[in-house]
Amino acid sequence: LFSAVQPAPPDAILGLTEQFRADPNPRKVNLGVGVYQNEQGVLPLLRSVAAAERKLAAQPQAKGYLAIDGLPTYDADVKELVFGAGSPLLADGRVVTVQALGGTGALKIGADFLRQVSPDARVLISNPSWENHQALFTRAGFTVAKYRYYDAEAKGVDVAGMLADLDAAAPGTIVVLHACCHNPTGYDLTPEQWQRVIDVVVERDLTAFLDMAYQGFSAGIEEDGAVVRAFAERVPSFFVSTSFSKSFSLYGERVGGLSIVCADADEAARVLSQVKIVIRTNYSNPPTHGAALVETVLADPELRADWVTELGEMRDRIKAMRSALVAGLADAGVTRDMSYITDQVGMFSFSGLTKEQMVRLRTEFGVYGTDTGRICVAALNEGNVGYVSASIAAVLDD
Ligand code: PMP
Repeated sequence: LFSAVQPAPPDAILGLTEQFRADPNPRKVNLGVGVYQNEQGVLPLLRSVAAAERKLAAQPQAKGYLAIDGLPTYDADVKELVFGAGSPLLADGRVVTVQALGGTGALKIGADFLRQVSPDARVLISNPSWENHQALFTRAGFTVAKYRYYDAEAKGVDVAGMLADLDAAAPGTIVVLHACCHNPTGYDLTPEQWQRVIDVVVERDLTAFLDMAYQGFSAGIEEDGAVVRAFAERVPSFFVSTSFSKSFSLYGERVGGLSIVCADADEAARVLSQVKIVIRTNYSNPPTHGAALVETVLADPELRADWVTELGEMRDRIKAMRSALVAGLADAGVTRDMSYITDQVGMFSFSGLTKEQMVRLRTEFGVYGTDTGRICVAALNEGNVGYVSASIAAVLDD
């Protein structure tokens, strides 16, 4: 049965982690994976989440099945976080939100549903994008191409190229957009640039799929959600995937949501009925614990306020590490302008280093980032940023 099965290529980032684990260098630093670490270099258990754990443990519940679309209070709170509590779309019953297995699960439910309603559509993702976008939409049965995004020369977004590529897309093309904290580049569009993207989405009748894996990591929950609200004002139908992996530090619980904006409440009811079939035939219904934790935090004003504070602390620490890296590089003798690192937002920095330089960083210094030059700034701390700066300086050879 399996004699013709070929070995699949190893996952680039997980492969990096394996290499990191095996590296005997005592100063080694893993900047490969997209996981936030605190100042002590460990994955944090948020105070608000720990408090929610205690609250849930104080009243143990039997573990029944959730509804196919998840915990209703959770779905309602996700809607409010993403669209804003006062959104007319919510009042009009135009938004379907279902609990999903992290951001990835949300993208996959959306992709599978889209394959039913737009089987011939092409998918466009940014160049570059999160690795799994290409694979996930391809596996869902779509042909995936790329729109221009990163401008290596200018160190920013190639807005003209992006708009031209979207403008050239056939009506109905599915366009995957990073709502904030673009992975891997760290460069986002300005509100004005988003309006120009929305112009093209409306004019060309494109299907926008906003991937929001980092709400709150750029400027704040409300600020980062503004992109979704800008779409809500002008685009009749679109998709939003939400991940709480980073914002609640709940990576392994697989908590996320998929929201679909529909033309009216009747359409929303029909769409929900179909999305439920996608879920039912994949895993029947989602797990209880992660969503219960998020819901407990969001529904309790004190815990929610503490979570907002903690999210701000994570965001500020990453920003401080960006500045520390730029200062560290200058101290280590790098003369070229590296200030673009502080222009970027979110967990990642496209460092501008070549593949050869990234390989040298790894083999000579035990500093692990991806071959594309992406490093996770959220894994830097006061204890390792000096060493990382000196290592980067050594391979930059200024
Ligand atoms: N989209 C993007 C852009 C991401 O960076 C990630 C996580 N690395 C995801 C989706 C998936 O999130 P999750 O881990 O919640 O599945």
